[in-house]
Amino acid sequence: MLIPFDAIAELSTPDVCVIGTGPAGVTLALDLADHGRRVLLCEGGGFDFDERAQEIYRGELLGDPYRDLDIVRLRAFGGASGLWGGVTRPLDADDFADKPHHPLARWPIVKADLDPYLASALVMLEVDPLPADEPVADSGFQRIHFGESPPTRFGETYRAAVLDHPNIFLCLNANATEVRADDARATGIALADFDGGRATAVAGAYVIACGGIENSRLLLWSNETSNGRVVRRADALGRYWMEHPHFTVGDFVADRAFAHVHYSLTPDRRRALGLLNCGLRFFHRADWPRDDLLDDLAVAAPETAARLRARGDGLSAGRLRAAWEQEPRAESRVLLSTGAVDRFGAPRAALKWLKSPEDLVTVRRTASAFGDFMARAGVGRLRLRDWVLGEGDFPEDDELGGNHHMGGTRMAEDPALGVVDANLRVHGQPNLYVLGSSVFPSGGHANPTLTIVQLAHRLADHLAERRG
Ligand SMILES: Cc1cc2nc3c(=O)[nH]c(=O)nc-3n(C[C@H](O)[C@H](O)[C@H](O)COP(=O)(O)OP(=O)(O)OC[C@H]3O[C@@H](n4cnc5c(N)ncnc54)[C@H](O)[C@@H]3O)c2cc1C
Repeated sequence: MLIPFDAIAELSTPDVCVIGTGPAGVTLALDLADHGRRVLLCEGGGFDFDERAQEIYRGELLGDPYRDLDIVRLRAFGGASGLWGGVTRPLDADDFADKPHHPLARWPIVKADLDPYLASALVMLEVDPLPADEPVADSGFQRIHFGESPPTRFGETYRAAVLDHPNIFLCLNANATEVRADDARATGIALADFDGGRATAVAGAYVIACGGIENSRLLLWSNETSNGRVVRRADALGRYWMEHPHFTVGDFVADRAFAHVHYSLTPDRRRALGLLNCGLRFFHRADWPRDDLLDDLAVAAPETAARLRARGDGLSAGRLRAAWEQEPRAESRVLLSTGAVDRFGAPRAALKWLKSPEDLVTVRRTASAFGDFMARAGVGRLRLRDWVLGEGDFPEDDELGGNHHMGGTRMAEDPALGVVDANLRVHGQPNLYVLGSSVFPSGGHANPTLTIVQLAHRLADHLAERRG
């Protein structure tokens, strides 16, 4: 049911207070409520876009070029699912595993820990089960598949379910401004509305599900105002922030079978090459200068060029786009702005997103390996852009990233390397949890929302079991 802001103080103590109503918060609240838990669900925005809420998302960019922080997310009921494209894919088993070349890119859980929640996450996102990856003989690559959500807008699709559930108390325009803690546990969440109202949510457990930048901001600020009581070991807080770089990396001409097909290295090949995960996406463009590419090819491989040219309409030409995994780096981080504050007096987010030379190696070597395979198999030609080959910087006029905000409150067994444990509980806090892609210790190349929803289902089971 919907409750007004001033009813929070009178609510008899809920089992769980969830902050945020994106895919993470809504999935968790519905599951917990179905488990019989009473949930106070607080959303900083309203049902519809409201500039007063959205402007709180303004922030500073201190690192590599990126889009403005109030463009890449939505502060309203349903969160950024009001903007998302609906492309889904689970992480690969190898994304979770130890990697000799990238020791930080590992999870304290394995894929099998999330697999039981895949079917229900696909249902939440209205996505059909995905076909299995298909290795391409002798290439070291596999054809991979993505699911397509309608895309599900959580604010519309699940609004009635949230409002009608007797165990959910939804409060809109309820902005969490601080998490409070004493020396033993989290004690409450300070809330503010847009009319000067202030309240404190008190519950048995608290879950911060404010999105992949805001989770860090809220905890960083809470740590300042509580003298470090909220995240007691804060070495990793805000750090190891990652995106999936999204760039056009080359142009191709190839058999039509390649158009609109996605590939990645097989896990074995990736491991042998010591690379992180990278998805290659071939986009056919009817207007692409395929004759230029064939002329180039004719210099090196005249027979292949002639054979391809003879295919006429059976030939595809276009762009190769890539979306890939970054190495987790402490320097890439969410910080508190040292200048600007929001209307509630909290420092705005400052994002220092950094790509590294290693990130360039991942895409260059993966794309080059695919080009080598095309040449070997005589199926086409791939010409990589100069910057991919190391001549010049990443272009600034491309997509840059996928709006996938990962890290900042990463999951790790060691509190020196992570903020939450394998159950998403903040290290050293018995009753404070973080949910969303901010907990990803590494990001693979798959779009994150399916994994976020899997984690939400898993956290609901954990919290439901915890009380017995
Ligand atoms: C343009 C665009 C396209 C995308 N396309 C895809 C895609 O194709 N596939 C994919 O997997 N992902 C995609 N994403 C990412 C996807 O939207 C996110 O992964 C997903 O929404 C994250 O869910 P979440 O619940 O963790 O966070 P969010 O959706 O960000 O929700 C956070 C919620 O917390 C609320 N909130 C924040 N701070 C506070 C506070 N202090 N107090 C109270 N409430 C607060 C917000 O209002 C919001 O409701 C896209 C994103 C964008 C912007």
